[in-house]
Amino acid sequence: PRRPVIAGNWKMNCLLDAGLDLAQAVEDGAGGRDCEIVICPPHVLLHPVNVALEDNLLGLGAQDCHVAEKGAHTGDVSAAMLADAGCGYVIVGHSERRVDHGESDDLVRAKAESVFAQELVAIICIGETEAERDDGRTEAVLAKQLDGSVPAGSNAANTIIAYEPVWAIGTGKTPTADEAQNVHSFIRRYLAEKLGDDIASGMRILYGGSMKPSNAAELLAQADIDGGLIGGASLNAGDFHGIVECLP
Ligand code: 13P
Repeated sequence: PRRPVIAGNWKMNCLLDAGLDLAQAVEDGAGGRDCEIVICPPHVLLHPVNVALEDNLLGLGAQDCHVAEKGAHTGDVSAAMLADAGCGYVIVGHSERRVDHGESDDLVRAKAESVFAQELVAIICIGETEAERDDGRTEAVLAKQLDGSVPAGSNAANTIIAYEPVWAIGTGKTPTADEAQNVHSFIRRYLAEKLGDDIASGMRILYGGSMKPSNAAELLAQADIDGGLIGGASLNAGDFHGIVECLP
C-alpha cells in the first residue's frame, strides 16, 4: 500500500512571522493520521521553520532547486543547500516555473537528478493546459512530460509525481473525481511501461489544483490518487488539516 502524502506548496507567500505561525499550526494539528504531511515554504523560510518545528511530525520541502551542486549561479539555490537547511523533499517542474522561467522537461529532469544526488525526494509536477485538454491531448502531453521530466533512476522512494492540471491551479475548477482517477490511472500505466510494474505500483501520484476540504474526500478516495499538492488551501492550517482529514 502506498502511504498518502498531503503536501502544502506555499508558493511565494508568508513573511517570517506568518510562516513560523503557519508551520507551527500545521504541526500542532498533525500526527493523527498515517500519512506524510509536508510543507513547502519559500526558500528563505526553510531553515527558520526547520529550527522552530521540534516534533518532527512534518516533512519539509522546497519549491525548486538549481541543477548544480554549487558554483557561479547568482540567485540560485542547490539541492545540497536545501538538504542542509533541513529539507526532505523538493518540488521540481511546477507549471508556474515551467511558464514563469521557461523550464523545459530536460531541465526539470536534471533538477530531479540533483535532488536524488542529495538523497531527497523529488516531487515532479506535470499537467496539461486548458487548450491541450480541450483538444483531447491530455494523455499525449502528460506522456511527453513523463518521458522528459522523470529520470531513468526514479523509483517509489525518491520520486513522487504531482498531476496538476494547469487549468485547475488557483481557479477553483477541478476535474471530476472520475476524470482525475482516469488521468492518474493513465500516469501509473505509463510509469509502469517506463520504470516497470513494481516501481509504478509503489509510486505516489498526487493530485493538485484547487483542492480544498469540500472536494478533497472524493478525489482522495480514488484508487490511484495518493494524496494532494495543495496551494491556496495550504496557507490556512484549518483548511490544510481539513484536507488531511479527507484521506480515506
Ligand atoms: P491551488 O491549490 O492554489 O490551486 O494550487 C495548486 C498548486 O499549484 C500546488 O502546487
